[in-house]
Amino acid sequence: MKKSAFTLLTIILLLTSCKEATKNETVKTEDTPNLSIKKVLEIIPISHATMVLNYDAETIYVDPTGGKEAFDSQDKPTLILITDIHGDHYSFDTLKDIDLNEALIIAPQAVIDKFPVDFKPKYKVLKNGENTTFNDLKIEALPMYNLRKEALQFHPKGRGNGYILTFGNERIYISGDTEDITEMRNLKNIDKAFVCMNLPYTMTVESAASAVLEFKPKQVYPYHFRGTEGFSDVSRFKTLVNEGNTDIDVVQLDWYAKE
Ligand code: ZN
Repeated sequence: MKKSAFTLLTIILLLTSCKEATKNETVKTEDTPNLSIKKVLEIIPISHATMVLNYDAETIYVDPTGGKEAFDSQDKPTLILITDIHGDHYSFDTLKDIDLNEALIIAPQAVIDKFPVDFKPKYKVLKNGENTTFNDLKIEALPMYNLRKEALQFHPKGRGNGYILTFGNERIYISGDTEDITEMRNLKNIDKAFVCMNLPYTMTVESAASAVLEFKPKQVYPYHFRGTEGFSDVSRFKTLVNEGNTDIDVVQLDWYAKE
């Protein structure tokens, strides 16, 4: 009798501890921040520096290039961000064929100056350091420029914009074409960072990793990594970042699927 009572007690204790373990695991999974973020922000790489960000009712085209057909399977844009004047960022041939009826274009003045006179979309100029709001989004324009003497002519300071977008509580940094400038190294509270790395136009993977280790985004997405000598070594970039900080998640998307 005593023995069976003891066995019953053991079974009850075991069941209780199993239940506790299951409960704890479930709570942990639900609390993982990435799961809730994925529900609201969708990132679609189109090519090189071109991407689509879907967030609730917003569809944001970043540096749309590649012709209208590159966006055939996407919703029409509510917002378009353009970083600079070069063909891998500003493409009139793409813009002219996209349905811009509901879209606002945000760009630096140098890009607006390239619009043909009879092209009259809704637009807003942002200079380096300025910010604006669009529906529930906050958009900040940051400098992007070269540092190496031999590369200064590619991106003079003040012409192009990097951007920080705030979606709810998430801050997304889009570097544009830049080197590891002080303004990047000093960034704070970045959740996702899109960082360029190609030669000769932007920077080496070593410079990009060094800057990322300084501003410590939660996640970094290497993008814009095709240079004149082929692709930069983005797996080395990941190694360098994670040798310095294992908490930074390096996310490799397929930016060159169509090549
Ligand atoms: Zn570029």
